[in-house]
Amino acid sequence: MCSDSLDKVNRIFCIGRNYAAHAAELKNEIPSSPVVFMKPPHCLVAPNQAIAFPKHGSELHHEAELVIKVGQAGRPQNISEADKFIEAFTLGLDLTLRDVQQGLKQKGLPWEKAKAFEQSAPLGNWVVYDGSVNLNTLHFTCEVNGETKQQGDTGLMLFSVHTLLVELGKIWTLRKSDLIFTGTPAGVGPLAIGDTITISSEHIGSFSWSIVE
Ligand code: ZN
Repeated sequence: MCSDSLDKVNRIFCIGRNYAAHAAELKNEIPSSPVVFMKPPHCLVAPNQAIAFPKHGSELHHEAELVIKVGQAGRPQNISEADKFIEAFTLGLDLTLRDVQQGLKQKGLPWEKAKAFEQSAPLGNWVVYDGSVNLNTLHFTCEVNGETKQQGDTGLMLFSVHTLLVELGKIWTLRKSDLIFTGTPAGVGPLAIGDTITISSEHIGSFSWSIVE
């Protein structure tokens, strides 16, 4: 099921609560530093694949996100250094079992069962980053069965792509082919068996997946 481009992926960092309106819709506080969690690379799903509805939860939510691929190892010290670490970008889905996550959050437990399950990271095709597209002004949409559910504007991120690279670098040495899911805008909602989900951006492309039993 995995294409070559997915097999080469190193780690997957995911950023939570990076848009104020999304933090508010889940009644979360605005973070003073990025909320970070991880998914294993085996969670990735190439476009046009079927995604099996997980058996261990009932509220499968779409979270459309800009995704960055790191192109070199190191720890960027500032915004201009961070720019050199960006190899490519695309859109992805941080699929989340919201009911499972709420239960884990209430008990103060880790989120892996809610966020890092099989097929939880559908990923579009890469666009090589050459600086010609401004990652701080990208618009993207998430549609379910043709109906728009999320409209993203990366200008509304609490922590920009470049800031995220610097912040992650304070904790981890970044490695080539690490991915960063940069957080989702407001409008997250449930998916059902039979749904088709499509994420699109003018400068990136349009990618779809179907939800099956
Ligand atoms: Zn997310």
